[in-house]
Amino acid sequence: MGAATDTGQAGASAELIFSGDELLRGDTLNTNQLYLGERLLDLGIFTTHALCVTDDLRALVEAIRSSLGRRPAVLVLSGGLGPTEDDLTREAVAEALDRPLEHREELLEMINARFLARGLPMGESNRKQAFIPRGATAIPLTGTAPGFYTQHGETLLVALPGVPWELKQMWEETVEPLMHTALERQGEQHTQSVRRIRTFGIGESMLAEMLAGFDWHDPQATIGTRAHLDGVTIIVRGQAAPQGQRKLDTVQTRILEIVGEHAYSTHGEDLEWLVGGMLRRAGLTVGVAESCTGGLVGKHLTDVPGSSDYFLGGVTAYDNRVKTAVLGVPAQMLVEHGAVSREVAAAMAEGACRLLGADCALSTTGVAGPAGGTDKKPVGLVYIGSVVRGVTQVERHQFPGEREHVRERAAFAALDLLRRRLLREVPA
Ligand code: ATP
Repeated sequence: MGAATDTGQAGASAELIFSGDELLRGDTLNTNQLYLGERLLDLGIFTTHALCVTDDLRALVEAIRSSLGRRPAVLVLSGGLGPTEDDLTREAVAEALDRPLEHREELLEMINARFLARGLPMGESNRKQAFIPRGATAIPLTGTAPGFYTQHGETLLVALPGVPWELKQMWEETVEPLMHTALERQGEQHTQSVRRIRTFGIGESMLAEMLAGFDWHDPQATIGTRAHLDGVTIIVRGQAAPQGQRKLDTVQTRILEIVGEHAYSTHGEDLEWLVGGMLRRAGLTVGVAESCTGGLVGKHLTDVPGSSDYFLGGVTAYDNRVKTAVLGVPAQMLVEHGAVSREVAAAMAEGACRLLGADCALSTTGVAGPAGGTDKKPVGLVYIGSVVRGVTQVERHQFPGEREHVRERAAFAALDLLRRRLLREVPA
């Protein structure tokens, strides 16, 4: 793999081309870009260009040629490998590389077998999917669209289907092993290494202030942040060689000291996995009582396979009558403090513990919006209750954003509250 020198980036570089009018129209979110950008960075390869191109042969050929002209180590094309008229990636690559398209009988057989397995006849239009540019290697089917890769000068050109799960599977099973081998051949000095420190409870601007003592543009440890509903990730990039790793270790350790218990993972685990692991190790069970999150906390907890080891269940107590009748929240408390209050959040969590016989519980009650806010209780106000081994604690949050964002943030804040409490109160 060639090291790009004209991009301003040390090490190998990647370029991405996405075809599909649906991406440009805004009908489909380009999740493949998020996925590929992150996976490439994990390999130490920085993406310098990503382009969405309309379903037009000329535009696609031009985009491929201009990318190859910059000699990236890898050029990934996503989409346009289907059987329809607007699937033009095969033709565009063949033309850009000045190679003919070749029929591959084995591909046709694979496509046919896929259809047979589903009890469907293969359409005539699918025959064109068995053509790939001369010299290219076919990537075994994951759906019905075969991918392919080929070396062109210093660039490894990879064409993958647009359907996210098909692309992901081909990437992980075929492309990534290929790239590992190429990177190993090239030696570590050209590749980069990435550290991801996931945090919760501090905004990007606050993090920037806390980390103001670092040189964010240091090529040996370049720092960036990325905000999501489940927190902000601090990304530190540097050289993969042993000396570079030592520098990254030092910077990571210093950042962890500064960020403290807000940092929840350095190995990419999601909050729900982490909390699940802590509960399992401690032999504790958890239940939930949710109002404004309507089941999201339970949903996240049960996203983890095997969560039945510790997750007992939950009550979606949206209406006050459910809060009183099922969870035992005193009616008088609701009148005195209102449903969105510290007292009710505490009573809901305690009620969930009692009802479900759980060691721990989480509760949420808040104003998700867009309506329902008042001066005293504005949209975005959420109380999160928690019980850990009989001790109740409540946190008050004021979340920004739309209804969906408020609800998601509240659900993650609940998980994070339990994480911090388990960390402090339940010895590992
Ligand atoms: P197939 O034959 O399996 O459809 P394809 O390579 O022709 O493969 P496309 O037709 O380009 O793929 O896209 C198929 C679907 O995949 C699109 O309708 C869209 O929903 C989704 N998709 C395509 N590109 C992306 C992308 N970059 N990010 C997320 N989803 C995408």
